[in-house]
Amino acid sequence: MRFQVLLAGALAAAAFAATPLPLEAAKPVVCAQCVKANMDRLAGDALRGRGCGTEDEHVAARFVAETLKRYGVAAGAGMDGYLQPVQLTTPTAAAPPTLSLTAGGQHVELLQGRDMAAMQPPPSLQAPFIRLTDARAAPEAVTGKIVIFDSPIYDPPGVQGLLRAGATAVITPASDEILAHWDDLSTRPPGRTQIAGVERRAGRSMGVTIFAKADAMAALRKLEPGDARLEAPQGPPRERTTYAVIGVLHGTAPDADRHAILLSAHYDHLGVRNGVIFHGANDDASGTAAVLEFARILGSGAKHRRTAYFALFGCEEEGGLAAQAFLAHPPMAIGDLAANLEFEMIGVDDPKHPGF
Ligand SMILES: [Zn+2]
Repeated sequence: MRFQVLLAGALAAAAFAATPLPLEAAKPVVCAQCVKANMDRLAGDALRGRGCGTEDEHVAARFVAETLKRYGVAAGAGMDGYLQPVQLTTPTAAAPPTLSLTAGGQHVELLQGRDMAAMQPPPSLQAPFIRLTDARAAPEAVTGKIVIFDSPIYDPPGVQGLLRAGATAVITPASDEILAHWDDLSTRPPGRTQIAGVERRAGRSMGVTIFAKADAMAALRKLEPGDARLEAPQGPPRERTTYAVIGVLHGTAPDADRHAILLSAHYDHLGVRNGVIFHGANDDASGTAAVLEFARILGSGAKHRRTAYFALFGCEEEGGLAAQAFLAHPPMAIGDLAANLEFEMIGVDDPKHPGF
């Protein structure tokens, strides 16, 4: 954290100072033009926001690798090149999910996007439904059921409690915050992205959270308990590749690799959404440019005693995917890392440290 703050301050000062900084000659000097050139390349229009698994992101990865090489940094330990490929498999929806509820002669049908946003629904789910206004239900009352949780507002702990108690799905009113992200939430993939070679964390699979718009909740409120069926047909999975870009400067001390430091950031951002480029200058071209500037400074001049690793990750925005692959298959013994300095969004003032 301290390093992060100090570097951010140094970069900002170097970039904006009207007169040269009064640095002693022996101290490394941040090269403002180098930082700006790397920032411009990463966050410029040409790389279109470096979306996870896109060719734009791959161009960014190759640029980061070429820059490390140009700065005298070697390819990651035990690797042929700087790029550690990471294969991703993401489930896709073949059609928008639907939820049909039937009670007596009444029938209500909810459609994903129009009425509801079902989060990571299974391809098919059928269960009796009940309506509750209080989440403190006895587990036997909700186990195996789809629960319409008719709370006045979205109550996350209440929803989690019902799912933990064994509800297969909980339908809950969408809050203003949920509605503000409706398009994104209702078009998310119907399951988690699998990372080749990375074990999914074991854990009890939880039921489905279904956000419902106000009109849908009003329709559900009129139903007596009955039977519900959720259909969420899946298409062929989407296959993508991302990269961890890894470099190393081995130290001169005999045990240099045993007490190494790791400098890391992520080079991806959100890409293009609805025709708009999300450039991600701050998140996290700024961190990537900082790590590259460390690489330039540490890779020039006298060698250092301690080994430094540099790792720039792709697909952070979809859940730290390249970083997870790196942790599962690190090119060094993780226990030999004395510290990891992570640089995230250092391009703007930190209100806790104004001026830095
Ligand atoms: Zn970030």
